Amino acid sequence: MKNRWLFPLLLLPVVALAADTLPPLLPWQGSTESLIKPKHPWVTPAELSNLTETPDYTATVSYLQKLVASSELLRMESIGKSPQGRDIWLIKASMQPELIGKGQGKSGRPTLLVQAGIHSGEIDGKDAGLMLLRDIVHGDKQALLAQVDLLFIPILSVDAHERKGKFNRMNQRGPVDQGWRSTAQNLNLNRDYAKADSLEMQAVLKAINSYQPDLYMDVHVTDGEDYQYDITYGFNEPFASQSPNGASWLATVYRPALDQALSDAGHIPGPLVFALDPLDFAKGLQGSTSTPRFSTGYGDVRHLPTILVENHSLKPYRQRVLGTYVLLQHSLQLLAQQGKALQLAKKADENARPQRQVLAFKAAEQPDLIAFKGISYEIAHSDIINGPYVKWTGQPKEYAALPVFWEKVPALEVEVPKAYWIPPQYQDVITRLQHHGIQFSRLEKSGKLELQQLSASSHELASRSFEGRVGVKATFTPNWSEFALPAGTVRVSTDQPLGALAVALLQPEGPDSLFSWGFFHGMFERTEYFETYAMLPWIEQELKTNKTLATDFAAAVKADAKLAKDGQARLHWFYQRSPFYDQTYLKYPVLIER
Ligand SMILES: [Zn+2]
Repeated sequence: MKNRWLFPLLLLPVVALAADTLPPLLPWQGSTESLIKPKHPWVTPAELSNLTETPDYTATVSYLQKLVASSELLRMESIGKSPQGRDIWLIKASMQPELIGKGQGKSGRPTLLVQAGIHSGEIDGKDAGLMLLRDIVHGDKQALLAQVDLLFIPILSVDAHERKGKFNRMNQRGPVDQGWRSTAQNLNLNRDYAKADSLEMQAVLKAINSYQPDLYMDVHVTDGEDYQYDITYGFNEPFASQSPNGASWLATVYRPALDQALSDAGHIPGPLVFALDPLDFAKGLQGSTSTPRFSTGYGDVRHLPTILVENHSLKPYRQRVLGTYVLLQHSLQLLAQQGKALQLAKKADENARPQRQVLAFKAAEQPDLIAFKGISYEIAHSDIINGPYVKWTGQPKEYAALPVFWEKVPALEVEVPKAYWIPPQYQDVITRLQHHGIQFSRLEKSGKLELQQLSASSHELASRSFEGRVGVKATFTPNWSEFALPAGTVRVSTDQPLGALAVALLQPEGPDSLFSWGFFHGMFERTEYFETYAMLPWIEQELKTNKTLATDFAAAVKADAKLAKDGQARLHWFYQRSPFYDQTYLKYPVLIER
């Protein structure tokens, strides 16, 4: 008896804590509220709670299976299994669902791929997608499919979706139960595009390669600053893009149309930016250019126009889901009107063969100025941290000209080679290229070829693990030589639609190259050594006949204090110049054809 009373008393204040401690809300009303149909025979699980709750994996899949069985317009397929064995589902919505992505028979229609739950606590896209699919097949939205096909992944990070709870996202207003940000293997899928370590990512890449969508939307929820916007989104801007035609379509066609549609529906669309100084918003914002570990950077380098949607975490779940619905609906409508232009832009990017490629951008010193719908704040003092913190007031504050420092200055640029040659033993690297859909050929017989090799002149391993890997940064010195290539060596030509992606993955200096992610750490280890009793006689014999070696040694001893007094260092100096020394040590194993 005592316990029965004690529990609610103890638990209630704690449960209430998360929601009550968030900054005050701006009141919101929008015409999209009429989209919620609690009396509809196909009411979605989230609508039953007035969009405050979200269904678990089983309830989501069960609803979709029934919906798909009820309509000729829908198909669903598993695109792969998660590490815990759950199916990752893809819903295909089309007037001709059998034709999507089927080679010669491909419908040829503009195709939108919407992905929800890459971070499964940020699940707005799932419930918006369920409502939209329902309205397409059992409501008044069937015309959306008249000229466009829709592919929909309701939950990508399916295992993490089931690690659900009320305490997973402290800065977010709903839904009641939220999934976890990283996978069951504690990987952040939105850092895994380039290295493709996870089964979930490999499933997405397979779907992209099978269906060749024209536009890709990756739906998230923010953390960070408060502002008025409920739906923010962004992409790699045309000034820092590997797909200038696609990026220009996004900037000049997509963004104005979608901003208008969201505003007309009573939502508040905004740009995807982050404060430079958390204590001083007026200092301005950083506008990032994503590298290929992220969806937007990956889409950009493989010429798949990709939009990162970040709904504002402090807005209620209901408002966020409704805004996402508008975004999905109007993306389909825009593709019906402008999809052919997008397909042409995409083709132009795939056919371009730029001679140079930027692998990383840095922030401009001169900012762009933008009007910004902010929220006012006070700098308050906290005794707990014994310092200042930002306290958002919930009141609108308009910034007429807020500086944005865009990452648009090339920080690392390389010449695009003709091809890369990968020794056959690097199976994990070759497998990754297959996941990405990069074309390559294999040497049937061994042969000799004059190629460029990069030697690491300096390198530094990361001091801690990141995404389950220990990264490395290095500088390289190139040299040319004739190499004997064994049968099975893989040649990756850059003269292909995914050539820029191949450069991003195989040019080792790149921030998301497989080298940087640690696929080639073997090159930093020497495994053979010498004994002094064997080395000394070899040196004495060599010095008698090799005059250059003797002169070089004398000069080196003069120039290098360590060598002058350290006997072991002297032996090592000779060992490095002996034929016994490992010639692959510190050499990047992928060879370059120019
Ligand atoms: Zn996210």
